[in-house]
Amino acid sequence: MVERTLAIIKPDAVERRHVGSIISRIEAAGFQIRAMRRMALSKQDAEGFYAVHKARPFFGSLTSFMSSGPVVVLVLEAPDAIRTWRTLMGATDPAKADAGTLRKEFAESIERNATHGSDAPETAAYEIGYFFAGVELS
Ligand code: GDP
Repeated sequence: MVERTLAIIKPDAVERRHVGSIISRIEAAGFQIRAMRRMALSKQDAEGFYAVHKARPFFGSLTSFMSSGPVVVLVLEAPDAIRTWRTLMGATDPAKADAGTLRKEFAESIERNATHGSDAPETAAYEIGYFFAGVELS
């Protein structure tokens, strides 16, 4: 089933100029980019985006990191996009990520881990709507 997911190239990867490499990998993997924007998240924007993680001990640190510099947000489309994108990203902790995954290649740590991907259809719908209006999705 053709599906859409929200991807973020996080501040660590933008700062280290990995945007082009990551977008190349996205296209090589067969995704269509349906929308894309470079932007800076405020602390409040990051807190709203990660609201499900509010109770986690790393919430403050994660939202500070995500608002520490610009990100690139994208809507990716492909068959089984949510699972396929998470597989391409690799495990949350780059030390545990498989060879060939984006986090293995580009992430610095479990927090500064280069990319984000929605984890379920309901999350993808919420996250896409958090950043993009319907008219921006072609
Ligand atoms: P994901 O779905 O692989 O992104 O992982 P989670 O939903 O569990 O966590 C969301 C984000 O929080 C991760 O991508 C990391 O940036 C960060 N994170 C996850 N676990 C930890 C942790 O144990 N410590 C810190 N500092 N950050 C974490």
